[in-house]
Amino acid sequence: MTAVAFDTHSHLQDRKIRDDFRGVIERAEAAGVAGIALCGYDGPSNELALSLAANEPGVFPTVGFHPHEADEVSQAMLADLETLATLPEVVAVGEIGLDFYRGLAEEANQRRLIDAQLAIALRVGKPVSVHSRGAEDAAREHLAPYAEAARTAGLEIPGVMHCFGGSLEQAMSYVELGFMVSIAGPVTYPKNDDARRLAAGLPARSLVIETDSPYLPPQAMRGKLNEPALILHTAQAVAAARGESLESLLSLTTANAERLFRVRVPARAGAV
Ligand SMILES: [Zn+2]
Repeated sequence: MTAVAFDTHSHLQDRKIRDDFRGVIERAEAAGVAGIALCGYDGPSNELALSLAANEPGVFPTVGFHPHEADEVSQAMLADLETLATLPEVVAVGEIGLDFYRGLAEEANQRRLIDAQLAIALRVGKPVSVHSRGAEDAAREHLAPYAEAARTAGLEIPGVMHCFGGSLEQAMSYVELGFMVSIAGPVTYPKNDDARRLAAGLPARSLVIETDSPYLPPQAMRGKLNEPALILHTAQAVAAARGESLESLLSLTTANAERLFRVRVPARAGAV
């Protein structure tokens, strides 16, 4: 097989796996994972995303404030974020979003924070990586006007709905706005027919995959730490749900991730 995988959402700077970064990257390469988005979620993790990705041609940093941070983020922190988001190596603003499921920050603050970060994304001309949990319809109120503005500004793909947990109908409302929809490890859980229905129903040009490492390990690794090499479990499950080969699913989702982040994975010999 020659197709390579692209993990569109990971947190390799998380202290649970940071110390094994070199091993994580080597195992990813050995498994044929040629692209990895390394996503920030607060001030220190944004800086770490940049420093860890610095000498890794297939690792692409994103910077943003997770909705859980919404009660803490100041104007000065947003100004610092915009400075980082402007750097050429940063491929997206994220992860940003709304989380009414865990509700760790005030809803009004979450809504202000997502709007402030969508404005930054527009100013720096980069797509967004969006977390939405228990807020799949609410997020659209913010993302629809943003997507319109992004299109007007010439951005082909406004962003990605990461680890999307809503219905296919909700996912399609984001596809209509131009977003990619990302499928993660829960698609491998035996009881999760909803995730497989979502994976099967998404249009080919809107589908990407991710690990959300070190969280959400696939079924075969439940209870362990997740890492990009394990994305093949998710890719297999998505390919099976769609009735296509693993090779074609990887080709498709890697090409989509390259369009989303406007990058090319490093040319590789001897993939998967
Ligand atoms: Zn995440």
